Amino acid sequence: MRLLLIEDNADLAGLLAQRLAPRGLDLDVAHTGEEGLAMIELVAYAAVLLDLGLPDLDGLEVLRRLRRVSSVPVLVLTARGDERSVVRGLRGGADDYVVKPVRLRELLARIEAVHRRVPADGQPASPVVQVADVSVDLRARTVRVADRPVELTTKEFEVLAVLARRPGAAVSRQQIMDEVWGDAYLAVSRSLDVHMTSLRAKLDRPELVSTIRGFGYRLG
Ligand code: CA
Repeated sequence: MRLLLIEDNADLAGLLAQRLAPRGLDLDVAHTGEEGLAMIELVAYAAVLLDLGLPDLDGLEVLRRLRRVSSVPVLVLTARGDERSVVRGLRGGADDYVVKPVRLRELLARIEAVHRRVPADGQPASPVVQVADVSVDLRARTVRVADRPVELTTKEFEVLAVLARRPGAAVSRQQIMDEVWGDAYLAVSRSLDVHMTSLRAKLDRPELVSTIRGFGYRLG
């Protein structure tokens, strides 16, 4: 099983790599957020271990960008007592978290648990989600309705992508705002309405995205 560790502390990374290897876990290490995001594009990892304190990007920002292209299980590594980050990490698409200092046995158990919850290679079967005659290509970031391309703005696409990664499931407004706007979400509640309205108009399929009153939205 091949894992990616995004962690700037080289000593910790080296130690983990050394201790996971005998257990059949190959650990690739990225020392910055940008490096980690580039590696995720290239390799289908079984899981990603993500440190939140990185030199270039906030770990939660890395998580947000990662979730736009991949459904790989993510375990957040966090400092003790950093409860707010953990909650936001889990809401932003992390599958679980491990508090530092990392205890090997706990880490192994959690890797195994998140790995069991997803398909074999940790990637969705296809990055193209088809609902009725609307297809959303999450990797190419394109949308076709009745086989004709529809031009969406970046934010409109991201709102749609949050729903398309969970077709048929209710997704809360909070979740959409967390994934698309991150830290700024408190200011954008109105903005989500605006994007949703124009997204629906462009897709021209009124029944495709349903509003779940007092909660959020569902695709399909
Ligand atoms: Ca760090």
